[in-house]
Amino acid sequence: MSRKTLNLDNQLYNYLLSISVREPEILQQLRQETAHYPYAMMQIAPEQGQFMALLVQLLGATKTLEVGVFTGYSSLVVALALPANGKIVACDLSEEYTRVARHYWQLAGVADKIDLRLAPALDTLDQLLADGQAETFDFAFIDADKVNYEQYYERSLQLVRPGGLIAIDNVLWSGRVAKPDQDKSTLAICSLNKKLHHDERVTLSLVPIADGLTLALKR
Ligand code: CA
Repeated sequence: MSRKTLNLDNQLYNYLLSISVREPEILQQLRQETAHYPYAMMQIAPEQGQFMALLVQLLGATKTLEVGVFTGYSSLVVALALPANGKIVACDLSEEYTRVARHYWQLAGVADKIDLRLAPALDTLDQLLADGQAETFDFAFIDADKVNYEQYYERSLQLVRPGGLIAIDNVLWSGRVAKPDQDKSTLAICSLNKKLHHDERVTLSLVPIADGLTLALKR
């Protein structure tokens, strides 16, 4: 028995996958296709996707935000968990990667739920705020360039409703956050982690799933 979160070796991790993951075939296909891309490790793990789908259902979410789409796994998993009238505003810069995402959204029949904005995410978030969409989102997933994490968080906090949830990916950053490291991305994640620890605007939990997922529930 361990009180500390287990360090999963391959055997135990494979057990976890085999006994808990219910990955729909369309998501399996997208995972296989994305494995051929150079930045395949940017895709979220299947158990994390399933966890996020559960959170979206738990929130009764109908309107969500995604900052960082890549090839669309997380947006697809969320879209599948949303009700028929659900909507995702998805922010990304890459035409190339989101072309894969759009293809799979179409195949899965959820393309109508996803409003892809190809622009710097900060501009899109500012536009949503300017359009009067503050406090209208139920859920936000932040998984983009780390140097802007704090700004994505601050804008997302304005955009989600009280009782809405912000999930922030890669907050353990392969363990680099706990080591001396002057890398800009590491410093940015460390800075946000530190800030969130004492941020009274949210209820907080850092979940050590995959590369670390912070959950911040807006008060
Ligand atoms: Ca990520």
